[in-house]
Amino acid sequence: MAENNQMQPIFILSEGSQRTTGKNAQRNNIMAAKLVAETVRTTLGPKGMDKMLVDSLGDVIVTNDGVTILDEMSIEHPAAKMIVEVAKTQEDEVGDGTTTAVVLAGELLKNAEELLEENIHPTVIAKGYRIAAEKSHEILNKISEDITENDTESLKHIAVTAMTGKGAETAKEKLAELCVTALKQVMDKEKQKIIISKENIKLEKKVGGGIEDTELVQGIILDKERVHSGMPLSVENAKILLLDSAVEVKSTETDAKIQITDPSQMQAFLDQEEHIIKEMVEDIAKTKANVVFCQKGIDDMAQHFLAKKGIYAARRVKKSDMEKLARATGAKVITNLDDASESDLGKAGIVQEKKVGDEQMTYVEDCKEAKAVTILIRGGTEHVVDEVKRALEDAIGDVSAALTTGKIVGGAGSTEIELSKQLKEFSNSLSGREQLAVEAFADAIEIIPKTLAENGGLDSINILTELKAMHDKGKKWAGIDVFTGKIIDAWESSVIEPLKIKTQAVQSASESAIMILRIDDVIASSGKGEGMPPGMPPGGMPPGY
Ligand code: ADP
Ligand code: MG
Repeated sequence: MAENNQMQPIFILSEGSQRTTGKNAQRNNIMAAKLVAETVRTTLGPKGMDKMLVDSLGDVIVTNDGVTILDEMSIEHPAAKMIVEVAKTQEDEVGDGTTTAVVLAGELLKNAEELLEENIHPTVIAKGYRIAAEKSHEILNKISEDITENDTESLKHIAVTAMTGKGAETAKEKLAELCVTALKQVMDKEKQKIIISKENIKLEKKVGGGIEDTELVQGIILDKERVHSGMPLSVENAKILLLDSAVEVKSTETDAKIQITDPSQMQAFLDQEEHIIKEMVEDIAKTKANVVFCQKGIDDMAQHFLAKKGIYAARRVKKSDMEKLARATGAKVITNLDDASESDLGKAGIVQEKKVGDEQMTYVEDCKEAKAVTILIRGGTEHVVDEVKRALEDAIGDVSAALTTGKIVGGAGSTEIELSKQLKEFSNSLSGREQLAVEAFADAIEIIPKTLAENGGLDSINILTELKAMHDKGKKWAGIDVFTGKIIDAWESSVIEPLKIKTQAVQSASESAIMILRIDDVIASSGKGEGMPPGMPPGGMPPGY
């Protein structure tokens, strides 16, 4: 029996499943991850280039935003997807630094590959990387400096650093100002701790004008016009009712049939409907509201009655906008008109319809102590406006991270060189193979300044040598001026970034690198030919592969 078993291969996977094991699996995964990093590498830093992405419908995006590029590439390879996740985590947690995180993950794996070649076991490398990641956290915290909400100039510099070399470059000073003002306005404080919900800054885009026409509105801009031309174009001292149910006669739930046998009944029926609508409008008027924003529909007849009462109304307002309106004006969102009262209304200095480009929009402005604001982004073309929006999101993410954690570091590669230096010093306290792994980690960090230099068309070897010499002399913020190729003090040049951009990048890059390293078996079920390399025979690989 036993002999028999040995002779017959045992299949535990369904036909068509693919399996790669051991070194092959590792090599494939590392290769895929490195390719992803290589793709976005050229976009890093102020002199990074843009990518043009064309989707299956022919729509074009021009960007150098890491996460946007990877998102649009519809990547299939499982390990490559894990690297894309690094960018997504960075985007969610900070909003900027996505390219940095991905490039770092790629380099960590590249250096690990060299250790694998030297027959160092993946678990040893993983352990060394974990030690190095923890130590990095400690070092980064130690070298960082404090910032408070009162350091307005520094906060603006953080925004400028985020936007340098991006689509927003031409108006970065003005945009930085808008960004800091907006954030300070929407932030909350709880026991000295700053809390920010970035959703309270609405980024609205409108093609036309120039980037410098971008404006901050103390309130909310809605992509909506008033529902009836008989309504006032503008309402001063607006008292705003937010309604999340329709101003319509509710259609009956069940399919009731109404039999009308003579014309007077028909009239009675219509009168009845008119009466209900009128009542609803009366209920609205009774609250003393002169502006209504409705999340659902507003019936034609209701529009007419509202107009007659001089009430400004807009319908089908997005839920997210209703929430922002509530925060901006202090209104409460009402569902049932019966129990709406004046105390539920919000206030705004003025609500008006304005023409922007060739569309009508509703501006809800001059909200006292608005806790939600809008930045209306302008620019020559759709592509410009989109890229400015992405750059602004980066800036908002960075300033927000600086405010909430209160710690910042130098940019221009300075932090990475310092981190790498201190990690190497630390590695001397270790021994054996783990030490090699920590050193490999420290070397990998240098990929950031190296890439900044290369993308600036500079000699990266010379610059890195010079930089390291400066750091050895205790200049912890010595970094690269990518425009001149000289060494600068990033701090004095106001190239500064939130600490969180760096801690998060190191954390997610190392976590995913470790995860990929520990995989020695890739089993892909056959699916429906999905993920199958081209040229494979139907039915997949031969069994036993
Ligand atoms: P990411 O997606 O990682 O944020 P970016 O393309 O925004 O990538 O580049 C960020 C890098 O550019 C950071 O390392 C930052 O320190 C650097 N950087 C920003 N402004 C400057 C500057 N004026 N001089 C040198 N480096 C800069
Ligand atoms: Mg950036």
